[in-house]
Amino acid sequence: MQKFSNLLADLSMDFADTKMALADMKEENANLKSQLLKQEKTDKSDLEYIDNIYHSNTNECAYCPTCIDSKNIKIRLTKLPRAFKKLGTFKCNECKSVY
Ligand SMILES: [Zn+2]
Repeated sequence: MQKFSNLLADLSMDFADTKMALADMKEENANLKSQLLKQEKTDKSDLEYIDNIYHSNTNECAYCPTCIDSKNIKIRLTKLPRAFKKLGTFKCNECKSVY
């Protein structure tokens, strides 16, 4: 009977280890998933870097290079009114950069 309880103790230890390993794997999986999502968001294959900003080849939009390169997010630039021509042509509403 002594042997059996030892075996049981070993088994429950193994089970605890397996549980911990599973939790680690779950966490790793979640991290990888979020990395993948980020990469999808910052797919630059359809973008061209002209005059310090990213231009899309698939639509007429311009994107903020600061946000794409530093924060990995695609932010559409808004056109500034003509009155601000001296400051630039585009403004990013996320990081407030003017281009
Ligand atoms: Zn920006």
